[in-house]
Amino acid sequence: MLSLPFLSRLYSQSVTVSITKLEHGFWVLEGSDYTTMYLIEGMKKALLIDTGRDIEGLDSLVHRITDKPLIVVLTHAHFDHAGNIGSFPAIWMHPADTVLLQREYRGTINFVNDGDKFDLGDVTIEVSHMPGHTPGSIVLLDKKNGRCFSGDAFGANHVWLQLKPHVPLQIYVQSCSKMEKLMDDGIQKLYCGHYIYAKRPYDKSYITAMRELAEALLNGTAPDAKPYPQKVGCLTPMFVTHGPATIVFDPESLHEDIINKK
Ligand SMILES: [Zn+2]
Ligand SMILES: [Zn+2]
Repeated sequence: MLSLPFLSRLYSQSVTVSITKLEHGFWVLEGSDYTTMYLIEGMKKALLIDTGRDIEGLDSLVHRITDKPLIVVLTHAHFDHAGNIGSFPAIWMHPADTVLLQREYRGTINFVNDGDKFDLGDVTIEVSHMPGHTPGSIVLLDKKNGRCFSGDAFGANHVWLQLKPHVPLQIYVQSCSKMEKLMDDGIQKLYCGHYIYAKRPYDKSYITAMRELAEALLNGTAPDAKPYPQKVGCLTPMFVTHGPATIVFDPESLHEDIINKK
């Protein structure tokens, strides 16, 4: 493990990045500000998944790990995943999340959508659209190695669905079902966008618990909701838990969804 200190531009705090090689050609980069990036190196190209919040010199750090031409892909455009895009000349992201980009970006924004593929040489990374946490959340599939990089699409123990712009809960149920199907078809390990909370990949039982809980919320059969301690995204966020899965939601917009469904 390599640990390097960096000065944060915004908060004048020192953000430390820990780099761990998880498997051959596959690293996790963890910021001390609870952010997570993954780096995949193929024979021809490398792909960086997310850019953290505010890590000075992320580009040179990545280029110390790999000398391959780099593709940078955002799982979604929240500031803790897109904060450092300014270090890179081009990024790839889903168009539905451009409204969430908080900083001016002078580089090239390329759009991805469901089914798009990045050929890294001996490994191909495929995009799958999974709206819920944000409208443009994607997961990145490495089918050859049975891996999925899920950003915040299914959270890290908790998924935040209370944020704006709001995505109907029914859409999140569909994303969970789609992910379950992918896990039936060979994806075994799901690496979330805040690795510190999991410290291991999730398996299908996590996604199934998420889907069951989301369906129960829609049908009014979920366990009693409790107030969520962090007031993020709305004034009165609530949460429900089922096995390993917790969903944080806005009771106001959840009600709207039920009405819209009828
Ligand atoms: Zn997020
Ligand atoms: Zn996040």
